[in-house]
Amino acid sequence: MILERDAAMEFIDLKTQYRALQASIDDRMRRVMAHGQFIMGPEVAELEAALASYVGVRHALTVASGTEALLIALMALDLRPGDEVITTPFSFAATAEAIVLAGAVPVFVDVEADTALIDAARIEAAIGPRTRVILPVSLYGQCADMGALGAVADRHGLTVLEDAAQSFGATVEGRRSGALSRVAATSFFPSKPLGCYGDGGALFTDDDALAQVMREIRVHGQRARYEHVRVGVGGRMDTLQCAVLLAKLPRLPWELTQRQAHAARYDAAFGGGGAPGLRPIVCRQGRTSVHAQYTVLLDDRDDAVASLRSAGIPTAVHYPKPLHHQPAYARYAARESCPVATRLSSRVLSLPMSADLTADDQRRVIDTLLAWAHARR
Ligand SMILES: *Cc1c(COP(=O)(O)O)cnc(C)c1O
Repeated sequence: MILERDAAMEFIDLKTQYRALQASIDDRMRRVMAHGQFIMGPEVAELEAALASYVGVRHALTVASGTEALLIALMALDLRPGDEVITTPFSFAATAEAIVLAGAVPVFVDVEADTALIDAARIEAAIGPRTRVILPVSLYGQCADMGALGAVADRHGLTVLEDAAQSFGATVEGRRSGALSRVAATSFFPSKPLGCYGDGGALFTDDDALAQVMREIRVHGQRARYEHVRVGVGGRMDTLQCAVLLAKLPRLPWELTQRQAHAARYDAAFGGGGAPGLRPIVCRQGRTSVHAQYTVLLDDRDDAVASLRSAGIPTAVHYPKPLHHQPAYARYAARESCPVATRLSSRVLSLPMSADLTADDQRRVIDTLLAWAHARR
């Protein structure tokens, strides 16, 4: 039998990854089925130790999802109703959702036009007497200016919580995403750079006291069995998902190298102004992105999407509306605020990206998009 790659190009190819790791993933999952400790089994602590060492922090806590990670971190910071959390309007809804669920108020600060990341230079002006937390999002796999954010936070006695849902493995000056702030939250949703086979997430911190509080919140505020010292959530990541990640971790460094090589080829094709009406999101000097998404900015996105679609190339938009234009969060900011994020939302387009993207498929994406750009000139 010939193992044929699926004919249709996938936006994110997870099947090739599974074929490459099938023996160890299946073996790891079978072992969980055999020992039967589906919640808080031995794989949970094993994964947490591996994650802490990879990220370079004292504590890694697995949790039920990236959203739950953000919520648990914010609950642990003990926000009072009306406390404010400064964040970006250009993110997945979970970022703002966690802030509101924790009883706080999101304050949206606009993003940089070339990176789509929160603009550190605008943060100080948004700080008020109720500000407690700065919550940057490492969008598309690249961290924001964590040095500048940390300096602002220190000046005003604020905590930085990194939403690292898209950036597991990314670095700033050689230090990993997750180790760049007092606390960070990541996601292991299947399509993220490190994904499990369901929902999962993790929290990272060097702060022993905060780690302990988050550990209690994760299991209904329990310090010991049936000893509930605070209000918590049912926020554990199950053992099977931890087993999947343990099997996937050894391949991650190779996968990140592949992602960066694919991104470099996209950059070479689209960068430098060579393609009219088309430019890539920029990755700043001193940082590495894990390219959870490879995203370009287009003058006429709908037309480009139609062109790519007719060539059988899948694309996605992250995100079509800034959060302050979503009905659920519109009350927190004026519609005209954050014009950069609003403009980006009509121009961004994410192209096929995964470690196992083939050279042929990538060439097809590049050729189709360049042909589209030059035909419009
Ligand atoms: C995926 C994502 C989340 C939420 O993670 P889940 O595991 O899906 O709950 C939060 N923030 C950002 C920026 C994300 O991309």
